[in-house]
Formats: sequence, C-alpha cells, structure tokens
Amino acid sequence: MAPEILTLTLGSFATNAYVIGSHASGEAIVIDPVDDAERLLGAAAAAGWKITRILVTHGHLDHVLAVADLVKLTSAPLYIHHASPRLQEERIQDPVLQQLFPALPVPDRLLKDAGESCGLPGIELRSIHTPGHAPDHVAYYQPQSAVLFGGDCLFAGSIGRTDFPNADLGTLMHSITQKLFALPDETRVLPGHMSPTTIGTERRNNPFVLDYLRTLDTSDGSLA
Ligand SMILES: [Zn+2]
Ligand SMILES: [Zn+2]
Repeated sequence: MAPEILTLTLGSFATNAYVIGSHASGEAIVIDPVDDAERLLGAAAAAGWKITRILVTHGHLDHVLAVADLVKLTSAPLYIHHASPRLQEERIQDPVLQQLFPALPVPDRLLKDAGESCGLPGIELRSIHTPGHAPDHVAYYQPQSAVLFGGDCLFAGSIGRTDFPNADLGTLMHSITQKLFALPDETRVLPGHMSPTTIGTERRNNPFVLDYLRTLDTSDGSLA
C-alpha cells in the first residue's frame, strides 16, 4: 500500500510542509517543518501516525522554522545535506546568510551528494542533491507514488530564486534538466511553494527552463 501524503501550507511565506505516513507501520516522515510544530504533530496524530523522521529540503528560514521544536517534541532523527552553510560556521560570517540560514539542531545524519535512501519501512524515499537555489538543496523522490518533493528547485511554471547569496542559475538549471527531468514524465512534483505540477508538464512548458535551454543552444554556436 502506498503511503499517504498530507500537505500543510504554513508560515508567513506560505511554505508547504509534507507529512508522509504509512498506515501499515503507523510512522511518518515530515519534509520541511516550515512552522508550527504542534500543528504538524496534530495532523500526523489525527491520521494515526507517529513522526519518526524529519527531513529538510534546504536550510532557508521559511523551510526550517519549526525544526528545533519538532525535534524537541518527537525526538525524531533529523537529516540535512552536508553542504548546509549552518554546518560550516566559518562560511557564515555574513549577517545576510545568518538570517537566511537560521541555526538548526545538530543533525543525526548528513546526506551525501549521491542519492541516499531516507525512507522508513513502507515509505520509500530517495534524496536527490539539487543545488542552485541553495547549496544544500535536496529533493526527495518517492517512487511508490511517483512523487517528487521538490522544495524550491522547480515550481509550476517557475523555478527557484537565484538572487540569494550562494545561489547560482546555471547550477539550478543543471539540477532541473539533468536530475529532475531524468524522472518519469508522470512524476507528480509537490513543491515548497504553490500548487503541484508534473515533471512532464514542466519539461514541455516551463518558460524559464525552455528559455535557458534556448540560450545554451545559441551559445553553442548554432545559427538557427
Ligand atoms: Zn528557499
Ligand atoms: Zn521557500
């Protein structure tokens, strides 16, 4: 039986938190405790689940506000990508970066660049390192339901912002076109903001990605 997914849009940036639960095991994973740990806990409890794992897509303020509270309330292990600027304090003297990436509890596991299994019994989940919007950005792929938890990488008709410090458009486009577009077209993308989309829809229609690919064609020396 495929796991069930709850979406809670919370906080002043209207960020999507996802709770993925298994009715077979009674356990759940939270992806991005964006705000209000009590509500995330309540939603999981109402579905009959105990939160036993906490994952973040990236350390930006609007995705991690409730991480510390949720860790305290659940004692669930926290997974973060190893490139999180918060883990490398010497890289985060800049006050803008300090605000953008708030302090986090010490993680229980550091995710590597290569994909890693992050799931629980009954909930398959694989990390995909997708830098560009942030160096520590990770998307999570759930093959049983053909769902991608995309964070702030790819949105319906849009892409993640790259005007932050440490962000890079070329890196983001590489993540989208080489890593996310390698997934099947029918994959549903559940993003960090706004409504769901699919990989196929964005591959065919995303204006930012199509424009970028056109620029690459031209700079390759094509006269077309
Ligand atoms: Zn972000
Ligand atoms: Zn965000």
